[in-house]
Formats: sequence, structure tokens, C-alpha cells
Amino acid sequence: MGAGPARLEKARRAVVAGGASALVVSPGADLRYLTGLPAPAQERLICLVLSADGATLVVPLLERDEAVDAVRGLPVDVAPWQEGDDPAALVASLLPAIGPVVVDDHLWAAHLLALAARLPERELRAAGPLLAAARARKEPDEVAALRAAAAGVVEVLAGMPGRLRPGRSEQDVAAETRAAMLAAGHSAVDYVIVASGPNAASPHHTASSRLLRRGDVVVVDLAGLMPSGYWSDCTRTFVLGEPSPEVAAAYAVLRDAQAAAVAAVRPGVAAGAVDAAARSRIAAAGYGDRFIHRTGHGIGLDVHEQPFIAAGSDHVLAPGEVFSIEPGIYVPGTFGMRLEDIVACTGSGAEVLTRSPRDLVVVEA
Ligand code: ZN
Ligand code: ZN
Ligand code: ZN
Repeated sequence: MGAGPARLEKARRAVVAGGASALVVSPGADLRYLTGLPAPAQERLICLVLSADGATLVVPLLERDEAVDAVRGLPVDVAPWQEGDDPAALVASLLPAIGPVVVDDHLWAAHLLALAARLPERELRAAGPLLAAARARKEPDEVAALRAAAAGVVEVLAGMPGRLRPGRSEQDVAAETRAAMLAAGHSAVDYVIVASGPNAASPHHTASSRLLRRGDVVVVDLAGLMPSGYWSDCTRTFVLGEPSPEVAAAYAVLRDAQAAAVAAVRPGVAAGAVDAAARSRIAAAGYGDRFIHRTGHGIGLDVHEQPFIAAGSDHVLAPGEVFSIEPGIYVPGTFGMRLEDIVACTGSGAEVLTRSPRDLVVVEA
């Protein structure tokens, strides 16, 4: 999907605009974005060397075929290195003779230090968010891939009431849910959060040996990777039996806050204003200090990427940006709740990609 000459050109322009002469991209979302190669980072050096002169994918010989397949039709050469070669020397030989070299934030230190040793007089710079703006604005086929990922995770969440039963452990539920994620088309599962009772007050609790009980509020947050390279991420909150009045009232606040943030999404609006739409409502209900994280994060080839929907952010939303809207309320020792959807900023508003009911799900227990 998508990797093409236009993306390589964008990267080249960003490098030149920053006054550098070359970019070294290590395995990860940026490499997949530019070349389509899904290779994971490893002790053998794999990287794309991009300069005004061209683009070359450096790979160990044993992975040459995958690299050649990935870049077929792209203006990218493949330079394999053999066991016993020094791949850092190969990369150094592909760089222009002068000018700063921009290096992917994710290049392993061992590879970076080997490269630095080969380039004693050169300035090496961290790429930082060099490609973030380009990656944040999704092309239509990327939005379609994120829509398909969202459909997969929504299907799994719809089956949760059948898995959440008193007496089962969070880990049991998580294992079954993980299998359902794969059955729904994911190629890998990043995390399965099943946070019950007091555990739900910890936003990134994963799953423990705690047994579910009647009356528990349970936060289920699922994220998985699709074969397309794009991520799903969605959260729903469940309650085993009728909710207490406090839980019901807090959830009403959360749902209203989340809907207000989704309604605030449109091109030209600051990400901080979307965060404020949710945060102001939660604060007005007295839970301001119980909403302890940003409202959302971009999603694409990474599960967390730009733009971040955070308090005070002056990032201006643009059509094609896809991100989560996921406010939460966390009362330590008692309960927690979160409501997360993935939305795409369209020309005039927001398209919610995770199409599923948003009410607190009451599970008969
Ligand atoms: Zn999170
Ligand atoms: Zn999530
Ligand atoms: Zn998320």
C-alpha cells in the first residue's frame, strides 16, 4: 500500500529543508511508509539511505529477496551485505561526501555507534518528527486500511459480554480476546487490557490474575496490527451487573465528554481545543483530576503517532489525520472507565471509524 516515489520525494525535501544531505531510516513505521518493507529491527543492520543522489536499501544478504520484492517499481536500489562485511562501512560509502546526516530516532545504538565510528568528522542528527507531518495526513487508501482495522476490533469488542463472567481471571479473558483479535484478521496483537474493579483505575494496567466479580467495572482496550501494516485501537467499558449510581453518573459524564470531543473535530481546529472539549466537561462534573492522560493520539503505521490530542496543543487538525478520542475517569482503589474511538478528520468534520455502541455495557452477572 502507498509506498511510492511521492513519499520518497517528501522525505528528500524534508532532509534538504533541514540543511542535511542524507537520511538513514531504520526498520519501523518510517521504513514501511517509505519502502513498504515490514522488516523488524535486529542485530544485523537494515536501513534505507536516502540522499539527493538516490535511495538505497541496505540489507543482510539473507534478506535481499524480501527487500527486492518490497521496492519493486520504486526508485530504490538494494545493497546486500554478507556475513563478515562491515555494514556501517557500506552505509558510509553510500552517503554524500559532505553535509549533516539525519538518523532515524529508532536506529539501535549499536548500529549508530558503528556508523559514527565510520564518519568521525560528520554531524549526525536525530530525525525526530521529520516524517511525522507527512505520515499524519493519511491518503485515502490508508484511511480505508484504518477503517478495516477498526471494523476488526469492533467485532471483537462486540463479543466481550460473552467472555466477561464473574470468577474468571483477567488473564483468561485476555487470552481468549487475543485469539479473537487474530481470528478477526489481525496479524499481531499489541495489547489486550482487561482491567477490572480497582485495576480499571490504572489506565495502562494490562491483565492480571484478579478474578472478575459481580459489580466490577471492566475496561477493555484492544490494539492490534493488521496485515496492511495499519493498527486498530478501541476501548469500551463494561459493568458486571447493574452499575452503582456513582458509576452510572460518571459514565454519563464520560460519554458526553467523548461525544463533545468528537463533535469538535474539524479541519482548522487546534488539537488542544478538542482535548478541552472533553476535559472541560469532565472537570465540570468534579472529575478533573481523575482524567490523567491526553485525550488521544494519532494512529497509522504506528499505534501511537502524531498528531497528539493533548491539552494546550496548537497543532491545527487537517483532513486525512486519523486519531483516537479516548477520555477516561480513574478513581484510585474504586473504579475506572475509558471510552475510545478512532476518528478521521474529513473535509468538514469527523468520520468515526470504530462504529459500535458507546453506552456502558451492562453484562448480566
Ligand atoms: Zn494508552
Ligand atoms: Zn486503546
Ligand atoms: Zn489509544
